[in-house]
Formats: sequence, C-alpha cells, structure tokens
Amino acid sequence: MARRKNKELIELARDIGGDEAIEVIKVLEKKPDITDDEIAEETGIRVNTVRKILYALYDEGLADFKRIRDKETGWYYYYWRLETKKLPEILRAKKMAELKKLKEMLEEETSEIYYWCGKEGHPKLTFDEAMEYEFQCPICGEMLMQYDNTEIVEELKKRIEELEIELGLRKKPKKSASKKKSK
Ligand SMILES: [Zn+2]
Repeated sequence: MARRKNKELIELARDIGGDEAIEVIKVLEKKPDITDDEIAEETGIRVNTVRKILYALYDEGLADFKRIRDKETGWYYYYWRLETKKLPEILRAKKMAELKKLKEMLEEETSEIYYWCGKEGHPKLTFDEAMEYEFQCPICGEMLMQYDNTEIVEELKKRIEELEIELGLRKKPKKSASKKKSK
C-alpha cells in the first residue's frame, strides 16, 4: 500500500479503536485471511477485544471476512482481511464532516463580538450577556474586554482553505501569488 494511504489508514484505525486497532490492522496487512484467534495470538490482545475491533472495522467498511465451515468439526471459522477499496470514500466523508465543523466554528467566531476577562476557562460573553453582568466576569469579577479573536479566525480560515484544497473544492493558489514581487 502507498505510504500516504497507509498513514491515513493508521490514523483511522486509531480513531476507531486506539493502539489496539492499529495492531490489528498491521496483522491484517501482513497476513490476510486470518482468524480472530490467530490475531489475538499474534498481538497479545484479548480475543474479545480483537473481535470488537474487527466488527468496528467492518462497520466502517475497512475489513471484510469469509465464513468457512470446518468439515470435520462442523464449526464456522471467520477469516478476516483488510478492505481498503472504500478508504478514499471514508476519508473524504470524514474531511467533509471536519470542514462543516470548522465552518460552524468560524461562523460562531465571526457573527458575534465577544467579551472576556482573559482568563483561560472563563466564559466569553456576547454583548447582551456582558451587559447583564455589567461587563464583569461572572466568575472572577474582573472587567470584561472585547475579545480579540483575529488569530483564531485566521487559523480557522487557513484550515478551511487547506481542507477545501485537499477535497478539490477550491483551487490551489498559484505559488507566484504568495511570493514577494521580485522587483
Ligand atoms: Zn474571569
């Protein structure tokens, strides 16, 4: 698998089931058509946990299995393998969701002016709310000042732009545009 893809797969696995899911993915990559018991043995992760991770991967469309009946015992065995066909689709859906969240955050930051005492964890109030408290922080009583969110807004805009470029929703800015004029 291409290196970049692999990195993205690992990140997805981490979201789904932490480090243990990464271990499971690595084994599936190395040894396709492996049973849950064998994965448990390979990784040292409890088989119940392995199963939970496998079904979570299956739900996301990242793993698939074959069910084969053992003729002698009559038992069914599940042979698991990694499924990466849907990976680009899954990643795109995730990025779209992130983009939506960032846009909502930007909307929130730019639609109102906030007032804040400047202390971490203390509330940022809208003008009306600040009025109610006579421009004093409801927690510490310090004076509320207009909160300068320029940096946050700029950061959000940058991340939105990067994501939109990644998703093909926006053209990459031409390099020459960001360069200083040569003369
Ligand atoms: Zn305060």
